[in-house]
Amino acid sequence: MTLALPFDNSYARLPDRFHARQAPVPVAAPGLIAVNHALARDLGLDPAALETPEGIAALAGNSVPEGAEPLAQAYAGHQFGGWVPQLGDGRAILLGEVVTAEGRRADIQLKGAGRTPFSRRGDGRAAIGPVIREYILSEAMAALGVPTTRALAAVTTGEPVWRETALPGAVLTRVAASHIRVGTFQYFAAREDGEALDILARHVIARHYPGVEGPLALLDAVTVRQARLIARWMSLGFIHGVMNTDNMAISGETIDYGPCAFLDGYHPRKVFSSIDQFGRYAYGNQPRVAVWNLAQFASCLLPLMGAEGPAVEAASESINRFPAIYEAEWLRLFRAKVGITGAEAEDHALIAGLLEIMAGQNADFTRVFRGLATGMAAAEFADTAPFEDWQRAWRDRIAAEPDPEAVMRAANPAYIPRNHRVEEAIRAATAGDFAPFHRLNAVLSRPFEDRAGDAAFALAPLPDEEVRRTFCGT
Ligand code: AMP
Ligand code: MG
Repeated sequence: MTLALPFDNSYARLPDRFHARQAPVPVAAPGLIAVNHALARDLGLDPAALETPEGIAALAGNSVPEGAEPLAQAYAGHQFGGWVPQLGDGRAILLGEVVTAEGRRADIQLKGAGRTPFSRRGDGRAAIGPVIREYILSEAMAALGVPTTRALAAVTTGEPVWRETALPGAVLTRVAASHIRVGTFQYFAAREDGEALDILARHVIARHYPGVEGPLALLDAVTVRQARLIARWMSLGFIHGVMNTDNMAISGETIDYGPCAFLDGYHPRKVFSSIDQFGRYAYGNQPRVAVWNLAQFASCLLPLMGAEGPAVEAASESINRFPAIYEAEWLRLFRAKVGITGAEAEDHALIAGLLEIMAGQNADFTRVFRGLATGMAAAEFADTAPFEDWQRAWRDRIAAEPDPEAVMRAANPAYIPRNHRVEEAIRAATAGDFAPFHRLNAVLSRPFEDRAGDAAFALAPLPDEEVRRTFCGT
Protein backbone atom coordinates (compact mmCIF):
# COMPACT_ATOMS: atom_id res chain seq x y z
CA MET A 1 0.00 0.00 0.00
CA THR A 2 1.24 3.50 -0.71
CA LEU A 3 0.50 6.48 1.44
CA ALA A 4 -2.32 8.75 0.24
CA LEU A 5 -2.09 12.48 0.95
CA PRO A 6 -4.73 15.04 -0.07
CA PHE A 7 -2.66 16.66 -2.84
CA ASP A 8 -3.65 19.55 -5.09
CA ASN A 9 -0.61 20.54 -7.11
CA SER A 10 -0.86 24.07 -8.44
CA TYR A 11 2.84 24.42 -9.25
CA ALA A 12 2.83 21.21 -11.28
CA ARG A 13 0.08 22.76 -13.42
CA LEU A 14 2.35 25.65 -14.45
CA PRO A 15 4.04 25.35 -17.86
CA ASP A 16 6.77 22.76 -18.40
CA ARG A 17 9.62 25.25 -18.31
CA PHE A 18 8.92 25.94 -14.61
CA HIS A 19 10.14 22.54 -13.51
CA ALA A 20 11.50 19.12 -14.39
CA ARG A 21 9.38 16.08 -13.63
CA GLN A 22 11.53 13.95 -11.41
CA ALA A 23 10.70 11.17 -8.97
CA PRO A 24 12.77 10.81 -5.81
CA VAL A 25 15.55 8.24 -6.10
CA PRO A 26 14.96 5.33 -3.69
CA VAL A 27 17.41 4.69 -0.85
CA ALA A 28 18.80 1.47 0.61
CA ALA A 29 17.17 1.28 4.04
CA PRO A 30 14.83 4.02 5.27
CA GLY A 31 14.82 4.56 9.03
CA LEU A 32 12.63 6.93 10.99
CA ILE A 33 14.29 9.78 12.91
CA ALA A 34 11.20 11.84 13.67
CA VAL A 35 7.72 12.75 12.54
CA ASN A 36 6.48 16.15 13.69
CA HIS A 37 3.08 15.16 15.08
CA ALA A 38 1.80 18.66 15.82
CA LEU A 39 2.67 19.91 12.35
CA ALA A 40 1.22 16.81 10.69
CA ARG A 41 -2.09 17.40 12.49
CA ASP A 42 -2.03 21.11 11.53
CA LEU A 43 -1.74 20.02 7.92
CA GLY A 44 -4.61 17.57 8.26
CA LEU A 45 -2.27 14.57 7.94
CA ASP A 46 -2.30 11.53 10.17
CA PRO A 47 1.03 11.38 12.05
CA ALA A 48 0.56 7.67 12.79
CA ALA A 49 0.24 6.92 9.06
CA LEU A 50 3.54 8.69 8.43
CA GLU A 51 5.21 6.38 10.95
CA THR A 52 4.06 3.15 9.29
CA PRO A 53 6.48 1.37 6.92
CA GLU A 54 4.49 2.85 3.98
CA GLY A 55 4.77 6.31 5.51
CA ILE A 56 8.49 6.00 6.12
CA ALA A 57 9.00 4.69 2.58
CA ALA A 58 7.26 7.80 1.25
CA LEU A 59 9.33 10.11 3.48
CA ALA A 60 12.51 8.49 2.17
CA GLY A 61 11.41 8.77 -1.45
CA ASN A 62 11.11 4.99 -1.88
CA SER A 63 7.47 5.26 -2.85
CA VAL A 64 5.57 8.16 -4.31
CA PRO A 65 2.36 8.90 -2.41
CA GLU A 66 -0.87 8.79 -4.33
CA GLY A 67 -1.70 12.17 -5.84
CA ALA A 68 1.89 13.43 -5.75
CA GLU A 69 3.40 14.87 -8.95
CA PRO A 70 7.08 14.96 -8.06
CA LEU A 71 9.17 17.66 -9.67
CA ALA A 72 12.32 19.75 -9.27
CA GLN A 73 11.77 23.51 -9.49
CA ALA A 74 13.84 25.71 -11.80
CA TYR A 75 15.45 28.84 -10.36
CA ALA A 76 18.53 31.01 -10.68
CA GLY A 77 20.16 33.38 -8.23
CA HIS A 78 22.92 35.62 -7.02
CA GLN A 79 25.26 33.67 -4.73
CA PHE A 80 27.39 36.05 -2.64
CA GLY A 81 26.61 38.70 -5.24
CA GLY A 82 27.72 36.55 -8.20
CA TRP A 83 25.12 35.74 -10.83
CA VAL A 84 24.33 32.06 -11.47
CA PRO A 85 21.85 31.73 -14.36
CA GLN A 86 20.73 28.24 -13.40
CA LEU A 87 20.48 26.70 -9.96
CA GLY A 88 17.22 24.85 -9.36
CA ASP A 89 16.36 22.00 -7.00
CA GLY A 90 19.48 19.90 -7.19
CA ARG A 91 18.73 17.76 -4.18
CA ALA A 92 15.09 18.45 -3.42
CA ILE A 93 11.87 17.10 -4.89
CA LEU A 94 8.53 18.80 -4.51
CA LEU A 95 6.02 16.00 -4.01
CA GLY A 96 3.04 18.29 -4.20
CA GLU A 97 0.84 20.64 -2.21
CA VAL A 98 -1.67 19.85 0.49
CA VAL A 99 -4.52 22.18 1.38
CA THR A 100 -5.60 22.27 5.02
CA ALA A 101 -9.19 22.36 6.24
CA GLU A 102 -8.82 26.15 6.70
CA GLY A 103 -7.69 26.45 3.07
CA ARG A 104 -3.96 26.98 3.76
CA ARG A 105 -1.79 25.56 0.96
CA ALA A 106 1.55 23.95 1.83
CA ASP A 107 4.34 22.47 -0.26
CA ILE A 108 5.59 19.04 0.79
CA GLN A 109 9.19 18.69 -0.32
CA LEU A 110 11.79 15.98 0.20
CA LYS A 111 15.27 17.48 0.69
CA GLY A 112 18.09 15.06 -0.06
CA ALA A 113 15.94 12.92 -2.36
CA GLY A 114 18.50 12.22 -5.08
CA ARG A 115 19.81 13.71 -8.29
CA THR A 116 17.69 15.91 -10.55
CA PRO A 117 18.38 17.67 -13.87
CA PHE A 118 19.56 20.63 -11.73
CA SER A 119 22.11 18.72 -9.65
CA ARG A 120 25.17 19.85 -11.63
CA ARG A 121 28.07 18.06 -9.91
CA GLY A 122 26.16 17.40 -6.68
CA ASP A 123 25.01 13.99 -5.53
CA GLY A 124 21.45 15.10 -4.77
CA ARG A 125 21.79 13.86 -1.22
CA ALA A 126 21.90 15.35 2.26
CA ALA A 127 24.09 14.25 5.13
CA ILE A 128 22.47 13.76 8.49
CA GLY A 129 24.05 16.89 10.00
CA PRO A 130 22.34 19.49 7.80
CA VAL A 131 19.04 17.58 8.10
CA ILE A 132 19.20 17.60 11.90
CA ARG A 133 20.27 21.25 11.87
CA GLU A 134 17.42 22.37 9.61
CA TYR A 135 14.88 20.36 11.62
CA ILE A 136 15.96 21.90 14.92
CA LEU A 137 16.42 25.45 13.66
CA SER A 138 13.27 25.73 11.58
CA GLU A 139 11.07 24.27 14.33
CA ALA A 140 12.71 26.54 16.91
CA MET A 141 12.04 29.56 14.70
CA ALA A 142 8.38 28.53 14.38
CA ALA A 143 8.09 28.24 18.16
CA LEU A 144 9.65 31.70 18.47
CA GLY A 145 6.91 33.06 16.21
CA VAL A 146 9.07 33.69 13.13
CA PRO A 147 7.64 32.95 9.66
CA THR A 148 9.55 29.92 8.44
CA THR A 149 9.49 26.73 6.47
CA ARG A 150 8.85 23.76 8.74
CA ALA A 151 10.16 20.26 9.28
CA LEU A 152 7.51 17.55 8.97
CA ALA A 153 9.86 14.59 9.24
CA ALA A 154 13.40 13.30 9.02
CA VAL A 155 14.54 9.83 8.00
CA THR A 156 17.87 8.11 7.54
CA THR A 157 18.64 6.48 4.21
CA GLY A 158 20.92 3.64 5.23
CA GLU A 159 23.39 4.96 2.65
CA PRO A 160 26.61 6.87 3.16
CA VAL A 161 27.00 10.36 1.75
CA TRP A 162 30.51 11.45 0.83
CA ARG A 163 31.51 14.88 2.02
CA GLU A 164 34.98 15.25 3.52
CA THR A 165 34.36 11.81 4.97
CA ALA A 166 31.53 9.29 4.71
CA LEU A 167 28.50 10.45 6.68
CA PRO A 168 25.09 8.84 7.20
CA GLY A 169 22.58 10.07 4.62
CA ALA A 170 19.19 11.52 5.57
CA VAL A 171 16.11 13.11 4.00
CA LEU A 172 14.20 16.04 5.45
CA THR A 173 10.52 16.54 4.66
CA ARG A 174 10.17 20.28 4.39
CA VAL A 175 6.89 22.15 4.47
CA ALA A 176 6.63 25.67 3.03
CA ALA A 177 3.92 28.11 2.02
CA SER A 178 5.77 27.71 -1.27
CA HIS A 179 9.35 27.29 -2.41
CA ILE A 180 9.16 30.22 -4.83
CA ARG A 181 12.21 32.40 -4.42
CA VAL A 182 13.53 35.71 -5.73
CA GLY A 183 15.69 33.39 -7.82
CA THR A 184 12.60 31.84 -9.43
CA PHE A 185 11.73 35.24 -10.90
CA GLN A 186 15.36 35.81 -11.86
CA TYR A 187 15.42 32.54 -13.79
CA PHE A 188 12.72 33.77 -16.18
CA ALA A 189 13.83 37.41 -16.22
CA ALA A 190 17.30 36.33 -17.35
CA ARG A 191 15.70 34.38 -20.19
CA GLU A 192 13.58 37.40 -21.12
CA ASP A 193 10.53 35.18 -20.75
CA GLY A 194 7.89 37.80 -20.03
CA GLU A 195 5.07 35.31 -20.37
CA ALA A 196 6.52 33.08 -17.67
CA LEU A 197 7.14 36.09 -15.39
CA ASP A 198 3.53 37.11 -15.76
CA ILE A 199 2.30 33.59 -15.00
CA LEU A 200 4.62 33.36 -11.98
CA ALA A 201 3.58 36.76 -10.62
CA ARG A 202 -0.11 35.83 -10.93
CA HIS A 203 0.54 32.47 -9.27
CA VAL A 204 2.37 34.15 -6.39
CA ILE A 205 -0.35 36.77 -5.89
CA ALA A 206 -3.12 34.17 -5.84
CA ARG A 207 -1.15 32.02 -3.46
CA HIS A 208 0.52 34.45 -1.05
CA TYR A 209 -0.92 37.91 -1.56
CA PRO A 210 -4.62 37.61 -2.34
CA GLY A 211 -6.13 41.01 -2.96
CA VAL A 212 -2.90 42.47 -4.30
CA GLU A 213 -3.27 43.84 -7.81
CA GLY A 214 -0.41 44.01 -10.26
CA PRO A 215 3.37 43.68 -10.11
CA LEU A 216 4.06 46.97 -8.32
CA ALA A 217 1.65 46.18 -5.50
CA LEU A 218 3.25 42.73 -5.33
CA LEU A 219 6.66 44.34 -4.88
CA ASP A 220 5.24 46.56 -2.12
CA ALA A 221 3.75 43.56 -0.35
CA VAL A 222 6.89 41.41 -0.60
CA THR A 223 8.98 44.34 0.66
CA VAL A 224 6.76 44.71 3.72
CA ARG A 225 6.94 41.00 4.56
CA GLN A 226 10.71 40.87 4.13
CA ALA A 227 11.23 44.00 6.25
CA ARG A 228 9.16 42.47 9.04
CA LEU A 229 10.90 39.12 8.72
CA ILE A 230 14.41 40.55 8.94
CA ALA A 231 13.40 42.68 11.94
CA ARG A 232 12.26 39.46 13.66
CA TRP A 233 15.58 37.78 12.92
CA MET A 234 17.42 40.75 14.36
CA SER A 235 15.27 40.78 17.49
CA LEU A 236 16.26 37.19 18.22
CA GLY A 237 19.93 37.37 17.25
CA PHE A 238 19.45 35.13 14.21
CA ILE A 239 21.99 35.13 11.39
CA HIS A 240 20.77 33.41 8.25
CA GLY A 241 24.26 33.06 6.86
CA VAL A 242 23.49 32.62 3.13
CA MET A 243 21.08 35.34 2.07
CA ASN A 244 21.57 34.60 -1.61
CA THR A 245 18.63 35.59 -3.79
CA ASP A 246 17.78 31.90 -4.28
CA ASN A 247 17.46 31.61 -0.50
CA MET A 248 14.88 34.39 -0.10
CA ALA A 249 11.30 33.14 -0.26
CA ILE A 250 8.68 35.34 -1.90
CA SER A 251 6.18 34.21 0.76
CA GLY A 252 8.21 35.95 3.48
CA GLU A 253 9.18 32.76 5.25
CA THR A 254 12.71 32.03 6.42
CA ILE A 255 14.06 29.38 4.06
CA ASP A 256 17.20 27.29 3.46
CA TYR A 257 18.83 26.81 6.82
CA GLY A 258 22.47 26.29 5.94
CA PRO A 259 25.22 27.69 8.12
CA CYS A 260 22.77 29.82 10.08
CA ALA A 261 23.33 30.54 13.75
CA PHE A 262 21.94 32.35 16.74
CA LEU A 263 24.28 34.83 18.39
CA ASP A 264 25.76 33.95 21.71
CA GLY A 265 27.83 37.08 22.43
CA TYR A 266 26.41 40.13 20.67
CA HIS A 267 28.27 42.06 18.04
CA PRO A 268 26.74 43.48 14.87
CA ARG A 269 29.62 42.23 12.72
CA LYS A 270 29.29 38.58 13.86
CA VAL A 271 29.58 35.97 11.11
CA PHE A 272 29.54 32.20 11.59
CA SER A 273 29.46 30.76 8.10
CA SER A 274 32.79 29.32 7.04
CA ILE A 275 32.15 30.33 3.43
CA ASP A 276 31.28 33.96 4.20
CA GLN A 277 34.88 35.22 4.11
CA PHE A 278 34.10 38.91 3.81
CA GLY A 279 31.15 39.08 6.18
CA ARG A 280 28.64 39.88 3.45
CA TYR A 281 25.93 38.16 5.48
CA ALA A 282 27.02 39.32 8.95
CA TYR A 283 24.27 39.87 11.54
CA GLY A 284 24.21 43.66 11.10
CA ASN A 285 24.24 43.50 7.29
CA GLN A 286 21.03 41.52 6.96
CA PRO A 287 18.65 44.46 6.41
CA ARG A 288 20.93 45.91 3.71
CA VAL A 289 21.25 42.54 1.98
CA ALA A 290 17.47 42.14 1.99
CA VAL A 291 17.18 45.46 0.18
CA TRP A 292 19.80 44.36 -2.35
CA ASN A 293 17.85 41.13 -2.94
CA LEU A 294 14.58 43.04 -3.28
CA ALA A 295 16.22 45.26 -5.91
CA GLN A 296 16.95 42.10 -7.90
CA PHE A 297 13.32 41.06 -7.46
CA ALA A 298 12.14 44.50 -8.58
CA SER A 299 14.24 44.37 -11.72
CA CYS A 300 12.57 41.06 -12.62
CA LEU A 301 9.14 42.68 -12.30
CA LEU A 302 9.97 45.73 -14.43
CA PRO A 303 9.03 44.07 -17.74
CA LEU A 304 5.56 43.50 -16.25
CA MET A 305 5.19 47.15 -15.26
CA GLY A 306 4.91 48.65 -18.70
CA ALA A 307 6.46 52.04 -19.51
CA GLU A 308 10.13 52.02 -18.52
CA GLY A 309 11.00 55.33 -16.85
CA PRO A 310 8.03 55.63 -14.48
CA ALA A 311 8.19 51.90 -13.71
CA VAL A 312 11.81 52.13 -12.55
CA GLU A 313 10.96 55.11 -10.38
CA ALA A 314 7.92 53.42 -8.85
CA ALA A 315 9.88 50.24 -8.17
CA SER A 316 12.70 52.19 -6.49
CA GLU A 317 10.19 54.03 -4.36
CA SER A 318 8.69 50.74 -3.31
CA ILE A 319 12.03 49.33 -2.19
CA ASN A 320 13.04 52.62 -0.60
CA ARG A 321 10.18 52.14 1.84
CA PHE A 322 12.00 49.12 3.28
CA PRO A 323 14.17 51.05 5.79
CA ALA A 324 11.21 52.86 7.36
CA ILE A 325 9.11 49.68 7.61
CA TYR A 326 12.07 47.75 8.97
CA GLU A 327 13.01 50.43 11.52
CA ALA A 328 9.43 50.68 12.78
CA GLU A 329 9.15 46.93 13.20
CA TRP A 330 12.61 46.73 14.78
CA LEU A 331 11.66 49.40 17.27
CA ARG A 332 8.35 47.75 18.07
CA LEU A 333 10.07 44.42 18.74
CA PHE A 334 12.95 45.89 20.75
CA ARG A 335 10.63 48.08 22.78
CA ALA A 336 8.86 44.91 23.87
CA LYS A 337 12.23 43.33 24.63
CA VAL A 338 12.90 46.07 27.19
CA GLY A 339 9.32 46.05 28.51
CA ILE A 340 8.01 49.19 26.79
CA THR A 341 4.48 49.18 25.39
CA GLY A 342 4.17 52.91 24.73
CA ALA A 343 6.33 55.06 22.47
CA GLU A 344 8.67 57.91 23.32
CA ALA A 345 11.17 59.63 21.09
CA GLU A 346 14.13 58.55 23.25
CA ASP A 347 13.31 54.83 23.10
CA HIS A 348 15.52 54.18 20.10
CA ALA A 349 18.54 55.75 21.79
CA LEU A 350 17.83 53.84 25.00
CA ILE A 351 17.78 50.49 23.18
CA ALA A 352 20.81 51.38 21.04
CA GLY A 353 22.64 52.30 24.23
CA LEU A 354 22.13 48.84 25.68
CA LEU A 355 23.23 47.15 22.45
CA GLU A 356 26.38 49.25 22.40
CA ILE A 357 27.33 48.19 25.91
CA MET A 358 26.62 44.57 24.97
CA ALA A 359 28.74 44.82 21.82
CA GLY A 360 31.61 46.31 23.77
CA GLN A 361 31.64 43.33 26.13
CA ASN A 362 30.46 40.53 23.85
CA ALA A 363 27.56 40.04 26.27
CA ASP A 364 25.22 37.14 25.57
CA PHE A 365 22.30 38.48 23.48
CA THR A 366 19.63 36.09 24.71
CA ARG A 367 20.67 36.07 28.38
CA VAL A 368 20.93 39.85 28.68
CA PHE A 369 17.42 40.42 27.35
CA ARG A 370 15.90 37.54 29.30
CA GLY A 371 17.82 38.80 32.33
CA LEU A 372 16.06 42.17 32.17
CA ALA A 373 12.85 40.45 33.25
CA THR A 374 14.47 38.25 35.88
CA GLY A 375 16.83 40.88 37.32
CA MET A 376 19.87 38.82 36.28
CA ALA A 377 21.13 40.86 33.35
CA ALA A 378 24.04 42.53 35.17
CA ALA A 379 25.66 39.12 35.60
CA GLU A 380 26.19 38.98 31.84
CA PHE A 381 28.68 41.88 31.90
CA ALA A 382 32.30 41.59 32.98
CA ASP A 383 32.29 45.31 33.75
CA THR A 384 28.88 46.03 35.25
CA ALA A 385 29.22 49.81 35.68
CA PRO A 386 28.07 50.88 32.16
CA PHE A 387 25.13 48.48 32.35
CA GLU A 388 24.13 49.75 35.79
CA ASP A 389 24.12 53.34 34.49
CA TRP A 390 21.95 52.24 31.61
CA GLN A 391 19.69 50.33 33.98
CA ARG A 392 18.92 53.44 36.01
CA ALA A 393 17.71 55.33 32.94
CA TRP A 394 15.78 52.27 31.79
CA ARG A 395 14.02 51.79 35.13
CA ASP A 396 12.89 55.41 34.99
CA ARG A 397 11.54 54.82 31.50
CA ILE A 398 9.50 51.74 32.41
CA ALA A 399 8.34 52.99 35.81
CA ALA A 400 4.89 53.81 34.47
CA GLU A 401 4.52 50.54 32.51
CA PRO A 402 1.73 48.35 33.97
CA ASP A 403 3.54 45.00 33.64
CA PRO A 404 6.92 45.28 31.93
CA GLU A 405 8.06 41.91 33.24
CA ALA A 406 5.27 40.05 31.45
CA VAL A 407 5.97 41.99 28.25
CA MET A 408 9.65 41.09 28.42
CA ARG A 409 9.03 37.44 29.23
CA ALA A 410 6.84 37.14 26.15
CA ALA A 411 9.39 38.88 23.92
CA ASN A 412 12.69 37.40 25.13
CA PRO A 413 13.10 33.63 24.91
CA ALA A 414 14.91 31.73 27.63
CA TYR A 415 15.81 29.00 25.14
CA ILE A 416 17.25 29.37 21.65
CA PRO A 417 18.99 26.74 19.52
CA ARG A 418 22.45 27.53 20.73
CA ASN A 419 25.18 26.46 18.37
CA HIS A 420 26.93 24.19 20.84
CA ARG A 421 23.65 22.38 21.61
CA VAL A 422 22.87 21.99 17.92
CA GLU A 423 26.36 20.61 17.29
CA GLU A 424 25.96 18.24 20.21
CA ALA A 425 22.70 16.91 18.74
CA ILE A 426 24.33 16.54 15.32
CA ARG A 427 27.35 14.70 16.72
CA ALA A 428 25.13 12.25 18.58
CA ALA A 429 22.79 11.73 15.60
CA THR A 430 25.76 11.06 13.33
CA ALA A 431 26.73 8.29 15.77
CA GLY A 432 23.16 6.93 15.73
CA ASP A 433 21.91 8.44 19.01
CA PHE A 434 18.88 10.68 18.51
CA ALA A 435 18.13 11.32 22.19
CA PRO A 436 19.89 14.74 22.32
CA PHE A 437 18.04 15.78 19.12
CA HIS A 438 14.65 14.90 20.62
CA ARG A 439 15.49 16.51 23.94
CA LEU A 440 16.63 19.75 22.29
CA ASN A 441 13.49 19.90 20.13
CA ALA A 442 11.33 19.45 23.22
CA VAL A 443 13.12 22.28 25.05
CA LEU A 444 12.88 24.62 22.06
CA SER A 445 9.20 23.95 21.47
CA ARG A 446 8.35 26.13 24.51
CA PRO A 447 11.03 28.82 24.43
CA PHE A 448 9.43 31.49 26.62
CA GLU A 449 8.77 29.58 29.84
CA ASP A 450 11.53 28.91 32.37
CA ARG A 451 11.69 25.28 33.45
CA ALA A 452 14.05 24.20 36.22
CA GLY A 453 14.74 20.88 34.52
CA ASP A 454 15.88 22.62 31.33
CA ALA A 455 18.05 25.28 32.97
CA ALA A 456 21.23 23.91 31.36
CA PHE A 457 19.80 24.69 27.91
CA ALA A 458 19.51 28.38 28.79
CA LEU A 459 23.23 28.68 29.54
CA ALA A 460 25.72 30.33 27.25
CA PRO A 461 28.51 28.03 26.04
CA LEU A 462 31.64 27.76 28.15
CA PRO A 463 34.71 29.09 26.32
CA ASP A 464 35.70 25.59 25.22
CA GLU A 465 32.12 24.79 24.09
CA GLU A 466 31.69 27.89 21.96
CA VAL A 467 31.07 27.30 18.25
CA ARG A 468 32.60 30.06 16.14
CA ARG A 469 32.22 28.52 12.69
CA THR A 470 29.26 26.83 11.04
CA PHE A 471 29.25 24.92 7.77
CA CYS A 472 26.75 24.36 5.00
CA GLY A 473 27.84 20.76 4.87
CA THR A 474 25.68 20.25 1.80
P1 AMP B 1 21.75 25.90 -1.13
O1 AMP B 1 23.09 25.75 -0.52
O2 AMP B 1 20.71 25.05 -0.47
O3 AMP B 1 21.29 27.30 -1.25
O4 AMP B 1 21.91 25.32 -2.61
C1 AMP B 1 22.47 26.01 -3.68
C2 AMP B 1 22.29 25.20 -4.94
O5 AMP B 1 23.12 24.03 -4.90
C3 AMP B 1 20.89 24.69 -5.21
O6 AMP B 1 20.66 24.70 -6.59
C4 AMP B 1 20.94 23.28 -4.67
O7 AMP B 1 19.97 22.45 -5.25
C5 AMP B 1 22.36 22.85 -5.09
N1 AMP B 1 22.88 21.79 -4.22
C6 AMP B 1 23.30 21.91 -2.94
N2 AMP B 1 23.73 20.72 -2.47
C7 AMP B 1 23.55 19.81 -3.46
C8 AMP B 1 23.78 18.40 -3.58
N3 AMP B 1 24.28 17.68 -2.59
N4 AMP B 1 23.46 17.82 -4.76
C9 AMP B 1 22.96 18.54 -5.78
N5 AMP B 1 22.73 19.86 -5.73
C10 AMP B 1 23.01 20.50 -4.58
MG1 MG C 1 19.20 27.28 -1.39
